[in-house]
Amino acid sequence: MSIQNAIHHIQAELPPTAQLIAVSKTFPESDIEQAYATGMRDFAENKVQELTGKYEHLPKDIRWHFIGHLQTNKIKYIAKFVHLIHGVDSLKLLVAINKEAEKNNRIIPCLLQFHIAQEDTKFGLTLAEAEELLQSEEYNNLQNIEIHGVMGMASYTDNEAQVSAEFQELADIFKTLQNKFFAGKVYFKELSMGMSHDYHIALRHGATLLRIGSTIFGAR
Ligand SMILES: *Cc1c(COP(=O)(O)O)cnc(C)c1O
Repeated sequence: MSIQNAIHHIQAELPPTAQLIAVSKTFPESDIEQAYATGMRDFAENKVQELTGKYEHLPKDIRWHFIGHLQTNKIKYIAKFVHLIHGVDSLKLLVAINKEAEKNNRIIPCLLQFHIAQEDTKFGLTLAEAEELLQSEEYNNLQNIEIHGVMGMASYTDNEAQVSAEFQELADIFKTLQNKFFAGKVYFKELSMGMSHDYHIALRHGATLLRIGSTIFGAR
């Protein structure tokens, strides 16, 4: 399937509450241009160097999402333009993002990443850790970041019941945090979950941001 057909095919399946993000990591700029031609403006990368290169060469109305593990010393390279940082899993990282955002005179939207998968290789907070973070004075003094929701990756398995349970766990975490810490904050609204192999399941649990790469661009 062409890149354009794949995008149209996925878009047709989405409810109005869910948005597609094209995960372009490892794919060439020419592929991104093809997706861009269909009207796609949200792209995601997981390496700072690859992201800054693509940002420099490609149209400036692209909204760049960062979905990788972000090192504090590299935030400065993306702080002026990044649209949303999905994988924040520590107060230390939030403090560092806040500092670079302040230098650039902007507020950087972030998502808290949660550990929902069985595998212990995946990064992320537990609910208790997130609550501790959100209650801390240090977090509450940060003026240049805004938490827009949560992000997670389910286990990589064919066991649909397990993936389903993991996405539901993230949806429950979202609700809990929304009620406890973000009541009345309309910007806290994103549930970033679902990739090529599991986005249909994620949609059933209320995903608002789908991060899809290989179904659009082909095998990596
Ligand atoms: C690579 C990646 C995706 C997209 O994966 P596909 O299987 O290509 O759809 C989504 N989320 C994260 C965090 C990723 O690293």
